[in-house]
Amino acid sequence: MPTPPNNPHLPFGDQRSAPWYGKDVISVNQFNREDLEYIFAVSHEMRSMVERVGTFDLLKGKILANLFYEPSTRTSSSFTAAMERLGGSVIPINEVKYSSVTKGETLADTVRTLECYADVIVLRHPETGSAVIAANAARKPVINAGDGVGEHPTQALLDALTIREELGHLDGLTVTMLGDLKYGRTVHSLARLLSLYKVRLNYVSPELLRMPAEIIGELNSKKMEQVEHANLDAVLPETDVLYVTRVQKERFEDPAEYEKVKSAYVINAAGMQAAKARMIVMHPLPRVTEISMDFDTDPRAAYFRQMEYGLYVRMALLAMVLGKA
Ligand code: ASP
Repeated sequence: MPTPPNNPHLPFGDQRSAPWYGKDVISVNQFNREDLEYIFAVSHEMRSMVERVGTFDLLKGKILANLFYEPSTRTSSSFTAAMERLGGSVIPINEVKYSSVTKGETLADTVRTLECYADVIVLRHPETGSAVIAANAARKPVINAGDGVGEHPTQALLDALTIREELGHLDGLTVTMLGDLKYGRTVHSLARLLSLYKVRLNYVSPELLRMPAEIIGELNSKKMEQVEHANLDAVLPETDVLYVTRVQKERFEDPAEYEKVKSAYVINAAGMQAAKARMIVMHPLPRVTEISMDFDTDPRAAYFRQMEYGLYVRMALLAMVLGKA
C-alpha cells in the first residue's frame, strides 16, 4: 500500500519538516508573501543548477503522473521537463480518450489509481473545482494545472517570478490585464496572487468578458486597487506590466458571442509606442491574434522568456511537495 504523505513513520529523515511536504497546490490563496519569496529563491536555485549541470538527482526515483483532460503544450511539457531535470520520471496521460475515463471512470477513481504508481499528480481538467475533488480523493499531493475557468496557480507563480526577475520588484507596479478576464483562469489566479503586493490593477476587456464580480469583491476586501476600463489607450502609458490574454473560445456556449469579441484588442509595435520604455508585455500563451508578431522582437516582449521561468517554478514546486526543498 502506498505510504500516506503525513505518516510519522516515514524513513526519510528531515523531509517531514519541509513546510510544503505532502501538500496539494490548488489555489494561489494558499500562498503568503513569505511562501512566494521562498518559491522565488528555490526557482532561482533551480535555474542556476539547470544552467550549470542541466539535470540532477534531487527527485531520483520519484514519479509524476501528468493527467491532462484538456489540451496543453507548455504546462504539460514543462512539468515533464521539470521532473526529468530533477532525475524523476513521468507517467503522461494526455489522451484521456485512451484511458479508462472513456469507460466512465470518475476523476476520484482515476487519481486513486494513479497515486498507486506515482508520488505526485498534476491535473488539468475542464471543470472548476476538479482539483479539489482530486485532492480530496488522493493521499498524494495534487497540483492544479488549470481547472476550467477557476484557477491556474502554477502559471500565476511563474508570472509573478517573471515580473520579479524582469522588473526587479512587484510592490508599486501598475499591472494591466487585457482581453478575456471572464474565462481566463490565469488572470483569476494572478490577480489574487498580486493582492499580496502593493499593485494597482487595471482590467481592460469587452463588456462581455469583464473580470468576475466575485473576484473583484474578494480583492476589494483585501483593499486592492482595481479599476475597470473598456479601452487600453487611457492606461497603457502608466502600465508596467501588460498582461494580454487569449479570448477563450472553448468556454463560449454561443459561437456568435465569441465572434463578436474575438478580435477586441490587438497589441502591435505601432500601438506600443505609447507605452513606457521600461515595462513588459506578458501572455500565458498560446496567442491567437491578440499580439501581432511584429512586436515579438521588442525587448519588452517578455512572453517567450516567461515560459522558461515556468520550468524553474515547476521544478521548485515538485521539490517542495516531495519534501526536497
Ligand atoms: N495556457 C493558458 C491556460 O491553460 C492560457 C490559455 O489557454 O489561453 O489557461
